Amino acid sequence: MSEEELKPIPLDNLPPLTFVAAGESADEQEANLQSVTPSPGYPHLVFLLADAITKRSDLILMDFTQQQCAVRYQVDGTWYTMPPLQRNIGDFMLASMKQMAGLDFMERRARQVGKFSAEYLRSKHKCTLTCQGVESGERVAIEISRKRPPTENLEEIGMRSGMRTQLVDILNEQGGMVLFSALPGDGLSTTWKAALQSTDRFMRDFMVLEDKQKAEVEIENVEPVLFDSSKGETLGSVMPSVLLREPNVVCIAQMTSAPILNQMIDLTNNSELTTVSRLHAKHAVEAVMRALMLKPDREGFARALRAVTGQRLVRMLCTNCRQPYQPSPKLLAQLGLPASRVPVLYRHFQPSAEEITDANGQPIEMEPCEVCGGPGYYERTGIYELLVVDERFRQAMLDPQPTVQKLAQAAAQSGHISLRDEGIVMVAQGKLSLEELQRVLKK
Ligand SMILES: [Zn+2]
Repeated sequence: MSEEELKPIPLDNLPPLTFVAAGESADEQEANLQSVTPSPGYPHLVFLLADAITKRSDLILMDFTQQQCAVRYQVDGTWYTMPPLQRNIGDFMLASMKQMAGLDFMERRARQVGKFSAEYLRSKHKCTLTCQGVESGERVAIEISRKRPPTENLEEIGMRSGMRTQLVDILNEQGGMVLFSALPGDGLSTTWKAALQSTDRFMRDFMVLEDKQKAEVEIENVEPVLFDSSKGETLGSVMPSVLLREPNVVCIAQMTSAPILNQMIDLTNNSELTTVSRLHAKHAVEAVMRALMLKPDREGFARALRAVTGQRLVRMLCTNCRQPYQPSPKLLAQLGLPASRVPVLYRHFQPSAEEITDANGQPIEMEPCEVCGGPGYYERTGIYELLVVDERFRQAMLDPQPTVQKLAQAAAQSGHISLRDEGIVMVAQGKLSLEELQRVLKK
């Protein structure tokens, strides 16, 4: 993960943040809070939480060593290094937090987890404090809950309109296999849920088969069928009972082995069911390659496969502070963008040397952007690709020695727009910086 510097915070007047401590009753909560307000760590804690909430961080990490306390914020999935705290100030802050969370503040080795809340600018944030002694000292994580609008459909998660229509049409066809792919941590389960919710699940019978140990949020009108891997149950254990119920669509949460893939191929080709599953891969073509490497019935697979998605989560440029620049003709040519139609691209805000130093070379305090709080990015979205399997791609899947390159070439010849090219469109639209696109494509 990339690490970038944010500006330090000044320690003058206290921001209007109030804590609600843990406790069985309001009196106990108040007593727990009163016990920490006189602490020299308390004002620093108010600054830390107010600053992290302003910068939209959902996780603060504090690493205590002999000398100091290193602080990092996670914002939109990226780590930002903050100025380190003096060790004694960090100790006071941590003791205060532990007391507010109802934990033993003297304990610095054992793992402890507790909760408190912070109210700031009319919004309430639940904070989960996790402390654990480590070899170098103590590691502390503060998870900050942020109320986000639920991402329920494909539009909200950022899939472009033409792709949404095409994907939903394919999912609504009877028969055919659809695979969803992403790297771990790139929002696969959100896309899965959004896609299934966009289908005609009120008209056809959907079933989701998943391991009880990894079961996710239920989807309305999609019946979950759970098997318990901790009891030695597998997908095969529940399949006979699933088939007795004659579903139209069988969704398998994890496509991890040849038997599962062969089962899907059989259901698709011989029972004319729609089958849907997901797997980890860098992009759609790689997902197909990974499935081929499981050595399934290859002809059956090529016949069954209808479409494959790929995706990456990206940080969107803050529209309040993004900086336009004129791309060079060479850059535009590399990106395959017509110079006449893309006069400017945007990058995230980076102050120039003149903006942050005065005539004497002294640093000037700059007000951070009021929308994003300074990093230049605001919220995340996805880049998506949809590979629709046609006869040319099917033939490439039947190649005796398939490779990602050969498959990608066939896909491109059939007009498939790759994840990279979908990302470049978003760069041209000013939603995404080229740096951010390059960062996520390197994964
Ligand atoms: Zn901004």
